[in-house]
Amino acid sequence: MTSRRLFAFASLRLDPDEDAAAPAYAMTCECGETSGPMEQQVDADLWALTHTGQQPTHRRYCGTLVRAFRVVPVPGSLLHQIENGAGGDVAAVVDLNAACSRCGTSRGVALVATLPTGSGPDRPVYGCPEHAKELADAAEDTLLGTEALARLNRLGADRG
Ligand SMILES: [Zn+2]
Ligand SMILES: [Zn+2]
Repeated sequence: MTSRRLFAFASLRLDPDEDAAAPAYAMTCECGETSGPMEQQVDADLWALTHTGQQPTHRRYCGTLVRAFRVVPVPGSLLHQIENGAGGDVAAVVDLNAACSRCGTSRGVALVATLPTGSGPDRPVYGCPEHAKELADAAEDTLLGTEALARLNRLGADRG
């Protein structure tokens, strides 16, 4: 069994990134002038008041908050289990939008087969627990058919 079979639905969550730079606040006047990023919101507010104090007709501002986030695997998800020592290859858990080829659910979906395409990478086939067996069998039939066809073509080429 190769790591290629370790595709799965992974539950992810966005958390504030505590390791990144602190959130930055900025005020931008409708004239385009901006306070630039400031560590404290009160400093950005103060800049806006000062700006209007200097240019009394400038009254409208857009306040922005820039904050760093990171995506983390939800506890219990496959990614979380792997990252906490359950074994497996994190890089192989790639298709976060995997859905069952039969019913379209993403719940409990696993990779059941990869089918060769004419060009490009193999096409993954996903199945929910209910349809995994059926889809795997169908994929196997397709693969056997493709193989038989390839063999026939080879035979034809040998004769020709
Ligand atoms: Zn202005
Ligand atoms: Zn299904």
